[in-house]
Amino acid sequence: MMTKNEYIESLRKLKLKVYFKGELIENPVDHPMIRPSMNSVAKTYELAEKEEYRDIMTAISNLTGKRINRFCHLHQSTDDLVKKVKMQRLMGQQTAACFQRCVGMDAFNAIYSTTYEMDQALGTEYHKRFVEYMKYVQDNDLTVDGAMTDPKGDRGLAPSKQEDPDMYLHIVEVRPDGIVVRGAKAHQTGAINSHEHLIMPTVAMKEDDKDYAVSFACPSDAEGIFMVYGRQSCDTRKLEPGADIDLGNSQFGGHEALVVFDNVFIPNERVFMCKEYQFAGMMVERFAGYHRQSYGGCKVGVGDVLIGAAALAADYNGVPKASHIKDKLIEMMHLNETLYACGIACSSEGEKMPAGNYQINLLLANVCKQNVTRMPYEIARLAEDIAGGLMVTMPSEQDFKDEKIGPYVKKYLKGAVGVSTENRLRILRLIENITLGTAAVGYRTESMHGAGSPQAQRIMISRQGNLAAKKELAKVIAKIDESQNRQ
Ligand code: SF4
Ligand code: FE
Repeated sequence: MMTKNEYIESLRKLKLKVYFKGELIENPVDHPMIRPSMNSVAKTYELAEKEEYRDIMTAISNLTGKRINRFCHLHQSTDDLVKKVKMQRLMGQQTAACFQRCVGMDAFNAIYSTTYEMDQALGTEYHKRFVEYMKYVQDNDLTVDGAMTDPKGDRGLAPSKQEDPDMYLHIVEVRPDGIVVRGAKAHQTGAINSHEHLIMPTVAMKEDDKDYAVSFACPSDAEGIFMVYGRQSCDTRKLEPGADIDLGNSQFGGHEALVVFDNVFIPNERVFMCKEYQFAGMMVERFAGYHRQSYGGCKVGVGDVLIGAAALAADYNGVPKASHIKDKLIEMMHLNETLYACGIACSSEGEKMPAGNYQINLLLANVCKQNVTRMPYEIARLAEDIAGGLMVTMPSEQDFKDEKIGPYVKKYLKGAVGVSTENRLRILRLIENITLGTAAVGYRTESMHGAGSPQAQRIMISRQGNLAAKKELAKVIAKIDESQNRQ
């Protein structure tokens, strides 16, 4: 396994092409806007080095028998699935941000099982290739950007019917030694902190769309790839000299990027689906299922920090004993643990796939994510309620530190007796960061749209919910004989 520092150094060796605000960024690793997001990924390496987290953060590879980082693991039991969620809650607690490495882990498990079943049905040889790829990933302890979401253009049109054929990533040429692909993947979590991109299709497909049914892996600095860094609310605060208090969370963050594939060559050994459109839907459903489980861990961990921050804000405002405050904190914990319960439930009810790895219960994973589209919003609302309006009206860090103005800011923004004004401002800025600032990407809007927008889960719930069986149950209890219906 790599150490935290080895990971950071390994990123420096990549020749990434990253654009931000119209400029090519020479050194993403040390860029003040990107660095906090890299720190979050680095934490996945740092915690794996620690004895106390060994059981949660590492696992034994079924492919090599070696101890590996759990983020590179193919789950071998429901216990592994449960530990995955626990690891994500722990990581969320320690970073209060999106730590990005889960998308790769979820892609590994979805592609591993899908390629196996595809080979069984079609006589292809993708699974063997994918196993070799997984050994490479595990042995080198890589961070991989599991990439599913295409830009999608006109949502009413299939991939092959789009006005611009590049709105879904597709195969433009098949050569004896590999394929050439063109298109883009949008909202790519952690793309700039990743060694590799691992691509999957984004929707179920018909025969007309077969050029779009493609899965492959390539280094993140492969010829023809470039990335455009996504803006976040309040992001340029990180560029202010000496920025600290105003960032809310100066150490950690997350990021998304638009990843463009401008005629990229992929050698055959890294191609895991090439026009087998019948299996695109299976891969999508499985990746989405795993990532919907993931949110029952990561969002809960960030929620733990937000609830703690709200409780501290109440202390620092001098109202920890107010009964309505206590009740709001209880409600926040109830909502947060409900999300966790769903994450654990879909893991415990997981099943062994024909390939040998374990998959979550898809119905419960979709219920988990559907709750995530709502409950973090309510938790955030209650945190803002408890924090008070000062969270969004207080003066800047520069004013607080100013020789002339500073003493006034300190005096008038003082809260509870015995609590420093600075600590009060710090906790309010943390709440601001998670609910409205850079971390809100991961905690709020991503809760809505990440791993699929709410309607995508509702479709899965309707498919998996088995309404017909429920009707039968009701008929038996009510002693219904449907042959009587016409009489
Ligand atoms: Fe992991 Fe959560 Fe970020 Fe997805 S949103 S990559 S599950 S931390
Ligand atoms: Fe996500």
